[in-house]
Amino acid sequence: MEILLIAIGEVEIKVIEMLKYDLNKAFGKQVLVGKGMPRPDYAFNKKRNQYLSTAILKAMMEKKEYGIYEKILGIIDYDLYVPKLNFVFGEAGQRVAIISLTRLRNEFYNLPKDQTLFRKRVLTEAVHELGHTYGLVHCRNPHCVMFFSNSLIDTDMKGPNFCQKCKPR
Ligand SMILES: [Zn+2]
Ligand SMILES: [Zn+2]
Repeated sequence: MEILLIAIGEVEIKVIEMLKYDLNKAFGKQVLVGKGMPRPDYAFNKKRNQYLSTAILKAMMEKKEYGIYEKILGIIDYDLYVPKLNFVFGEAGQRVAIISLTRLRNEFYNLPKDQTLFRKRVLTEAVHELGHTYGLVHCRNPHCVMFFSNSLIDTDMKGPNFCQKCKPR
């Protein structure tokens, strides 16, 4: 019944520790930090200068040592994409999910650094992707964490909480 957090490529340990704490509070499940994976060069698209999140999820699923955990969440500090979108904040399968930190920082948009906001965004995207692994689909309530977000405005508006309908029981 636990969630395994792993870094994919280089990720600040501070961010992992903070997410470990926040996710434990959000889901009430044990959250462990596992051995990370190297930078996923196999997923890099030179033309887009982005990493294909689906390819990384596949690699995570194939890792035997992760097999004993209920859910696995990868954290990456590179920009992610799927073919039909300009970018994605994250992607999820049935057991594995990934989120990217790149576009969650104010600095990416030339705005002043805001650590509190960054922390909230990381948790929001992590809860959203893990929500998918627990079978939740997108919600039409813009204040629910399962609302689909393709901009930080949406991410900031919805926040990390489930609406009454989506709340896992
Ligand atoms: Zn989603
Ligand atoms: Zn909802």
